[in-house]
Amino acid sequence: MTIKNNIIEFQNKLKIPSCKLIAVSKTKPVQTIREAYDAGLRIFGENKAQELAIKQKSLPDDIQWHMIGHLQRNKVKLIAPFVHLIHAVDSSRLLREINKHGEKNKRTINCLLQVHIATEEAKFGFNENELLDLINDSELATFNSIKIQGLMGMATFTNNMDEIRIEFRKLRNLLDRIKTMNLSQNVNMQELSMGMTNDYAVAIEEGSTMIRIGTAIFGERYK
Ligand SMILES: *Cc1c(COP(=O)(O)O)cnc(C)c1O
Repeated sequence: MTIKNNIIEFQNKLKIPSCKLIAVSKTKPVQTIREAYDAGLRIFGENKAQELAIKQKSLPDDIQWHMIGHLQRNKVKLIAPFVHLIHAVDSSRLLREINKHGEKNKRTINCLLQVHIATEEAKFGFNENELLDLINDSELATFNSIKIQGLMGMATFTNNMDEIRIEFRKLRNLLDRIKTMNLSQNVNMQELSMGMTNDYAVAIEEGSTMIRIGTAIFGERYK
């Protein structure tokens, strides 16, 4: 199977134009991403800021680069000049730092807030109360160089699709609830980044607007 075939097959399976496909190219070399680009993809996701910054320099300018992994505050500067969307914002300190670098670069940086929906112990992501605290914090409205576009979540690593569905539904319900709240001008709750190679079908059924797909496009990762 070539990458082009994978992409065509995957897009035929999807047939959901309102859900965006983020091609997760982490660990893959530039020429592999170029292959996917030549096959028509323009949205790529990486989980390491340094790797993302290096790849961005050697690939075409019309690519939308998404940062999908945990982001350390001291790495924000590497991607702030060009990043299209940061998926995994998991603290107000990180948001403050992103805002600072948005200001420096004279651009608005789009962010999603990561919510911890899995049953597994996870280091990253807000729980529901923390998320609502952040949304209601008056400091949020002072961040003029960010825009919060929605929520991101990762389901439990399991083959139990019922469990995964419940977790995605929880995220969807949370988004719907926040939409009804009195939100500051830099919050526009519309995107739901959920679904990976093993659970994207369920994620789409539960209202995902962005699936993050690595393995199904690029094959297994070996590092
Ligand atoms: C690696 C990764 C993906 C893609 O995983 P696949 O199972 O290969 O599709 C999606 N989201 C995040 C946050 C990742 O780190």
